[in-house]
This record gives sequence, structure tokens and C-alpha cells, in this order.
Amino acid sequence: MKNTLLNHTKERNENNVGKGKNIAVIGAGIIGVNCAVELQSLGFSVTLLDKENVGEGCSKGNAGHFATEQVFPLAEFSLLWQLPKLLLDPLGPMALSPSYFPRALPWFFKFISNMTKTKRVKNGEAIKSLNNKAIEYYKPVLKAANAEHLLTTKGSLLVFESTPFTQVKKQYQHYHSAGVAVELLNREQVLKLEPNLSESIQHALFFTEVGHTLAPHEICVLLADHAKNLGAEIKQFSVKDIINTDKNDTVKITDGKTVLSFDHVVIATGAWSEKLLNQLSYKLPIEAERGYSLNLANVKVNDELSRPVASAERKFIMTPMAHGLRLSGTVEFAGLKIKANMKRAEMLYQHAKNMLIKLPSFTANSNINEQIDKNTEQKWLGFRPSLPDSLPVIGQAPNHENIYFALGHQHLGLTQGAITGKLIGQIVTKHPTDIDISPFCISRFN
Ligand SMILES: Cc1cc2nc3c(=O)[nH]c(=O)nc-3n(C[C@H](O)[C@H](O)[C@H](O)COP(=O)(O)OP(=O)(O)OC[C@H]3O[C@@H](n4cnc5c(N)ncnc54)[C@H](O)[C@@H]3O)c2cc1C
Repeated sequence: MKNTLLNHTKERNENNVGKGKNIAVIGAGIIGVNCAVELQSLGFSVTLLDKENVGEGCSKGNAGHFATEQVFPLAEFSLLWQLPKLLLDPLGPMALSPSYFPRALPWFFKFISNMTKTKRVKNGEAIKSLNNKAIEYYKPVLKAANAEHLLTTKGSLLVFESTPFTQVKKQYQHYHSAGVAVELLNREQVLKLEPNLSESIQHALFFTEVGHTLAPHEICVLLADHAKNLGAEIKQFSVKDIINTDKNDTVKITDGKTVLSFDHVVIATGAWSEKLLNQLSYKLPIEAERGYSLNLANVKVNDELSRPVASAERKFIMTPMAHGLRLSGTVEFAGLKIKANMKRAEMLYQHAKNMLIKLPSFTANSNINEQIDKNTEQKWLGFRPSLPDSLPVIGQAPNHENIYFALGHQHLGLTQGAITGKLIGQIVTKHPTDIDISPFCISRFN
């Protein structure tokens, strides 16, 4: 009884720990909205700022996969031999714009330096620490925001068409020994789970504990609404400068005209973070790993598939969504400014056609801005905020008492959103963090 009372009192105090302090969260993607909800719940007066509307950045058109099984860093030696071939094909799974090449080179050097076994093990452990309970962290947040229906936990499949079975088995063992809940399925077992998959599928890895959402953008919107209902303010504001950041002082931010003052600031600006961090004298080797998605409308939910299905060889993923079937993937290095190459989105259709028995029709070269629904563009380009070691930056700015970073979540921002929000709450309130955050410190680049 005494313990319960103590816990309640502690909880009450924790909920008010931020009382009287105002805090800006810059960036209203999945990371920023999770930070805003957590900080507002802790009693801070939160202002959530974005240059666009909520969730219009990379968090909008992604594959909606709570991909907790993806515990291996992207930098691996085997990729090195495939890189030239991959990069030279403009419609291959990975592409590099020739005009952007010199700009991307330093990032690639850093990426390659993360391929050593020691670094892979270290970085893999850090990714695992975020992914382990990522879905558990989401559940109470989504419940409080009346958004529980947006998380489905039916697992996901990684399917193989032509990879030799010995290789498939090797991959299975790799995941299994990393502690990922995985089953190795033969064709009959795969087709039983997903009868619409074509007979070309030979094997699959079934990740039994992962989840997906029917609407990634809606998650951002509902979480932002929840933060607002708790008292947060949401403002369209493009931050140009962070000024006057002396220790113990307020932080001032400006869009070039208006100046706003806060006790604390969290920077959650995804792929656009480099400039703001440079202004504060922090180096951030971030690249926009551009990815595309193609939304096939007018299908009944779960008609084609009931869970995300990724192709090991074709390197893309198909997710059943509220607005249709979403095909997503591919990596393109071309920075933030070069025009989208929507052929990269369109090419996903042919892949899906080879993998599914029935799928909705789609006419290539249809108007890029065509809307299949007020929320979903048919073809979409997003900028994954990627750092060369596949780890995000989560933590306090080493030289600025009241500035915090929550950015660089690469391919896993949706997955790691809730745990990042929780950690930022603990860091800002100087509580012990649930996991070791030292691997995520900005000082690894400075
Ligand atoms: C094709 C594709 C598929 C993907 N699939 C998955 C998946 O299945 N599962 C998964 O976990 N992840 C997936 N991802 C990755 C995931 O989408 C990202 O990691 C995640 O969206 C990053 O969230 P964020 O909040 O950091 O960035 P964003 O969503 O990009 O948000 C950053 C926000 O900051 C704002 N901003 C930037 N600069 C300023 C400024 N100066 N002032 C004010 N506002 C500013 C932007 O407008 C933007 O809204 C996928 C990505 C792509 C491209």
C-alpha cells in the first residue's frame, strides 16, 4: 500500500517536473511529435514548430513498418562490391546523382569506415537497445492519443525468390542469433499466411513480433493533436537561426522576422538538421537517403496483403494501408534540392506485379500531383535522415545546457519514435535514461 502511494506521488511529481518551463520542439515529424507529447505530459509548455504542416516530411509516405527486426547497421562489407553496379543504374535499388557525387563522397568514406566488425557489433548493439522495446513504448502513447487502431502486430515477411536456400538459412541464423523473433518458412507456409503472393516465392523469414501501421501520416497528426489537447501549441514557423545560446540563458530562435524565446529547445528536424547544428558549431555528417513510395488506391484494406512483405532481392516493401497498398523503398543519393525522379516510384509497380497474383492497376506517367485521397499522393519522395553509422543523435548538446537533439533516425524513424520521445523527456528532466544513450551522442562526430 505504502509503495503504491509512493509510486503515485512520484508519478504526480514526474508529471509536473517541467511545470513553469517552456520548450520548443523544432520539427513536427514522427520524432518531433513524440517528443512534444512526452514533454507536454511531463508538465512543460511545449511549442511544436514546423516549416510545413505536421508530418509532411519523411514521416508522411514511409512504409509504415515498425521494423524492430532491423538491428544490423547498413554499412556492411558485402555492399562494397555491389556499390558500383548499384549506383550506376539510375533505376536500381540504389542510385547516386552524378552531379551530387562530390558532395556525397565524405559521407561514403565515413559509411565505409563503419564496416569494420568491431564497429558493426557496437552499432548493432545500440540499434538493438532502441528497437528492443520500441513497440512497447508506442502502445501507451497511441492509447492516450486514441490512435491504438493505427498499430497492427501481425509480424512481417522478408521473402526470397532466387536466393539459394543456404544463404536464406544463413540470414535466418544471423537474425536468430541477434535475438530477433524469426521463423524460417517454406513456400507453402508463406502462401498460407499471404495467399496473394506469387508462386515465385521460395522461402521467407517471418518476423513474428514486428508491427505496421495503416497510416503513418495519421499517427503524426493524431499525436500532434494529443499534444495540443494536453496544452501544447503548434505553430508553422521556419527556423532560420538559433541565437543567444549562453549557458543557463533562454534560447532564442528566429525565422528571420520574429524572435521566440524558450527555456529549452529540442531540434528534431530530420534530414534538414545540418545547417542548424552547424550554426551551433556541431558537425553533423547527415545525408538525405532519398526513398520513394507508390500508393495503389481503391483496394480494400488487407485485400492484397495482411502484413508488410519485403523482397530480399528486389529491395522494396509492400504494406497494406488504409488508403490502398503502398510500395516503398529504394535509396537515392541526390541531396535535398535535386528534383524527384518519380520513375523510381513507378518502377516499384513492376516488382509488385511479379510478386502478387492480384494488385490494383496503375498507369505510369500519370500526373505526379494526382491525389488518390486528400492525405496521400500517389507517388512520393521522402528524405531519410541518415548518419554513416546508422545511429540517430539523441541527447543534450555538449556545449549548450538547454539544447537537445533528436534526429538522424535513417530507415527507422517511425519504429524508434516513441522510445526517442521517452528518452528526450528523461534527458531534459535529468532523470536516468531507460537505456544507455552514450552511443547516440553528437560528440562521436565532433
Ligand atoms: C520510402 C521510405 C520508407 C520508409 N519506411 C520506414 C518504415 O517502414 N519504418 C520506419 O521506421 N521508418 C521508415 N522510413 C524512415 C522514416 O520515415 C524516417 O526515419 C522518419 O520519418 C524521420 O522522422 P523525423 O521526424 O526525424 O523527420 P521528418 O519526418 O522529415 O520531420 C522533420 C520535420 O522538420 C521540419 N523542419 C526541417 N527544418 C526545419 C526548420 N528549419 N524549421 C522548422 N521546421 C523544420 C520538416 O518540415 C519536417 O516536418 C522510411 C523512409 C522512406 C523515405
